[in-house]
Amino acid sequence: MSRTSTLPQLFALDSLLDADEIAIRDTVRSFADSRLRPHIGDWFEDAKLPVREIAAELGGLGALGMHLEGYGCPGTSATAYGLACLELEAVDSGIRSLVSVQGSLAMFSIHHWGSEEQKNEWLPRMAAGEAIGCFGLTEPDFGSNPSGMRTQAKRDGDDWVLNGSKMWITNGSVADVAVVWAQTDLADSPSGIRGFVVPTDTPGFSAPEIHKKMSLRASVTSELVFDDVRLPASAMLPKAEGLRGPLTALGEARFGIIFGAIGAARDCLETAIAYAQTREVFDKPLAGYQITQTKIADMALEVGKGHLLAYHLGRLKDRGEITPEQVSTGKLNSTREAIKIARECRTILGANGITLEYPVIRHANNLESVLTYEGTSEVHQLTIGRALTGSAAFR
Ligand SMILES: Cc1cc2nc3c(=O)[nH]c(=O)nc-3n(C[C@H](O)[C@H](O)[C@H](O)COP(=O)(O)OP(=O)(O)OC[C@H]3O[C@@H](n4cnc5c(N)ncnc54)[C@H](O)[C@@H]3O)c2cc1C
Repeated sequence: MSRTSTLPQLFALDSLLDADEIAIRDTVRSFADSRLRPHIGDWFEDAKLPVREIAAELGGLGALGMHLEGYGCPGTSATAYGLACLELEAVDSGIRSLVSVQGSLAMFSIHHWGSEEQKNEWLPRMAAGEAIGCFGLTEPDFGSNPSGMRTQAKRDGDDWVLNGSKMWITNGSVADVAVVWAQTDLADSPSGIRGFVVPTDTPGFSAPEIHKKMSLRASVTSELVFDDVRLPASAMLPKAEGLRGPLTALGEARFGIIFGAIGAARDCLETAIAYAQTREVFDKPLAGYQITQTKIADMALEVGKGHLLAYHLGRLKDRGEITPEQVSTGKLNSTREAIKIARECRTILGANGITLEYPVIRHANNLESVLTYEGTSEVHQLTIGRALTGSAAFR
């Protein structure tokens, strides 16, 4: 079923986009509605996303590494990339996660920090969806504070030998290549953390999948284990020094979430409005009660404001002016409002709201992960707090 509503008109949202952006948005929306939406409930319930199939189709659409230049990437505006994330997450956060991790984390890291050899080897295939990438930063004991990571890369002659593990890695078990961040004894400031491009068929690499998730079930999440993984000197990303490497990539992925989470919220609200218009309680449609309309109006304000903030941040990014604090502001606002909206919409659907017949509980559960990954809400509050007070309260 196609998802169109009068919601965007309330804020005249399309008046803020150019013709190319609208065309890209509509193409992704049409693909999402026809190819993904009919299956997503089953993929979520079965916890089985056909990643390779979907990645190849997303690659054909130009949605992987969309705003990167060259090496087979389409080179669109950041705003257009954000709009694609919004439409994909309107179907499911798991699909947008696949695109974010592939394009904004794995491909961006290689594109931004990699050698020509690394870029030529991986980026064209990743843009086409023929090679899947993952990004290993988080460890079992180090999530919000990755500077404490224990995974180590040690020199052995010209080679690097990688030992340790990563946790909660999207696409891990299906990836052809992992961008892995590890401690080294390279002493330059601010730390010896370096990134490595690791083909997943390298001996000593394994990626057991994490099961029993109640959130992002239509997404592969894995542990990465490195047991004496021997890599050539050329595997290191030459231009990334210290935590700036992974944090710059995370900024890219967070940008996509600013748009994406609002897509999930929009889908919940459109579902709730349609449901309220046909569901009769006490002899008339639920939509005709003032309590329902108050809920709908308040949620529409947040969905609209979320779009406006996303579009504004998109313009700043396209002009090369966006700051990490602004990205934190957008990520915090979009995810926090989206999860509130999903829960409120669930009340409108009553008991039907708890089933996968409707997307709302699926979005609500997914948004629990989106609230946590790419920097938790609390970490973004601390980032904003530091910007406003000049005082860092992380420790
Ligand atoms: C489905 C899913 C997919 C993921 N995909 C990836 C991936 O592809 N690659 C990757 O590297 N990681 C990935 N992650 C990991 C994710 O980035 C981390 O879960 C996240 O950074 C939080 O780390 P943590 O879970 O260890 O929580 P913790 O850091 O242990 O935080 C626990 C709680 O403490 C709070 N807290 C932390 N520090 C402070 C502080 N200074 N002050 C106050 N409160 C604080 C947090 O906000 C949170 O509420 C994924 C996670 C999920 C759930």
